[in-house]
Amino acid sequence: MFKKSSGTLIREHSGHKGLSENSPIVEFLKPNFVYFPLMENNCPYESLVNVGDKVKVGQLISIKSGRFPSFTHSSVSGEVISIDKKMWHPSGKMVPTIEIKNDLQETMFEEIKDNDVSNLSSKDIINIVKNCGVVGLGGACFPTYVKYNPDNNINTIIINAAECEPYITADYVTMINNVNELIRGISYIMKANNASRGVIAVKKYHTELVEHLQKSLANINNISLFLLDNVYPAGWEKYIVQRVQKKTYKGLPAEVGAVVNNVQTAVSVCQAVEKNMPLIEKIITFTGKGLKEPKNVRVKIGSLVNEIIDFIGGYIDDLEDAYLIAGGPMTGNAIVFDNMIAAKMLGSVIVMPKEKQEVELPCMGCGKCTEICPVFLSPILIKNAYDDKDVEKIIKLDANRCMACGLCSYVCPSRIELTDIVTRAKTLANKK
Ligand code: SF4
Ligand code: SF4
Repeated sequence: MFKKSSGTLIREHSGHKGLSENSPIVEFLKPNFVYFPLMENNCPYESLVNVGDKVKVGQLISIKSGRFPSFTHSSVSGEVISIDKKMWHPSGKMVPTIEIKNDLQETMFEEIKDNDVSNLSSKDIINIVKNCGVVGLGGACFPTYVKYNPDNNINTIIINAAECEPYITADYVTMINNVNELIRGISYIMKANNASRGVIAVKKYHTELVEHLQKSLANINNISLFLLDNVYPAGWEKYIVQRVQKKTYKGLPAEVGAVVNNVQTAVSVCQAVEKNMPLIEKIITFTGKGLKEPKNVRVKIGSLVNEIIDFIGGYIDDLEDAYLIAGGPMTGNAIVFDNMIAAKMLGSVIVMPKEKQEVELPCMGCGKCTEICPVFLSPILIKNAYDDKDVEKIIKLDANRCMACGLCSYVCPSRIELTDIVTRAKTLANKK
């Protein structure tokens, strides 16, 4: 999927981020049509609108019921013109959608209005975050309110600002341009959880960003920076939490008194708490050598990726065959078609020209995959066990601890897709 190196240590200083990092954010806020998936993370959403209904910006249009309800709001005003039309989703699957034709009037839903934040309790903040459909924008897309609880002994809110994977710069430009919303968002998350400390974990090499954050936090004594090393995957949640809290844990960060949110999630919390504004826009990185002008783009959620790519200048002229990746190069999904929805979970789109046919070779026993695995697995042994369908061995090799970071595939000189195979081995073992 991605051009591989034969190095064993991924020490990313720039990580191709310069392609989009310094361009101003452009806005794609007038799509003619928007599409809202009726399926996210394999969970169905129920449409609350019918064909022919008129909707407003920020109006609730679908709901996922069950243990952790989640909500979707229209990002435009206009008319619902179809329900159940199948469209490509960033997960790589076709999903049913609600299709809305934009009337370009930007008529706002009446509920979107300023809140008196001084009077909001922890529970009020959690309810607002829930009702505004805020989800984790680091890729997981899990409803954010589920992590919050003022009675959970949380002492620290950690913002994972590592943006670890190469190429992606959406969080970087968000922090440069929206730092005050980020800081206010952290303070609301602290209040929601009764936490006394906020921490922004950012990589050291972003010296300008570090200075910008330090300056912005100068008069704020309960939010500080935590500087991470310039290695991948220093942005792995467990790595950050264990360093900030100086404690190890097995399951969730709450076990050691922490809640972790992504940068854009905290900004969305701020907009929800202050204006009752649902999650209807986000910044997505469009980058890679296959694009004429890589950029960070503020989009209406539900827009189509191919229209956004046309808007920012399109593909390079001599682009023939290319890899289109939804998400980062290490953990994203290879996508076949570019008419894909810019859904809440989409953080970046990378277009890479195919330089040559990459043929998988037999394992040469170099041991690089085992050497680099951050959770000390042996991917090649797991692959061998998977090839033999030896479930007992897969369990013994602890494949379940794989966090799908992609490093083993990245370093393998034989171009073996170890991450995919370890993931399949986990699924096989978990079926038992
Ligand atoms: S993808 Fe899994 S097995 Fe491969 S290096 Fe990362 S954690 Fe280890
Ligand atoms: S799979 Fe084999 S060739 Fe590839 S990194 Fe592991 S030991 Fe080396």
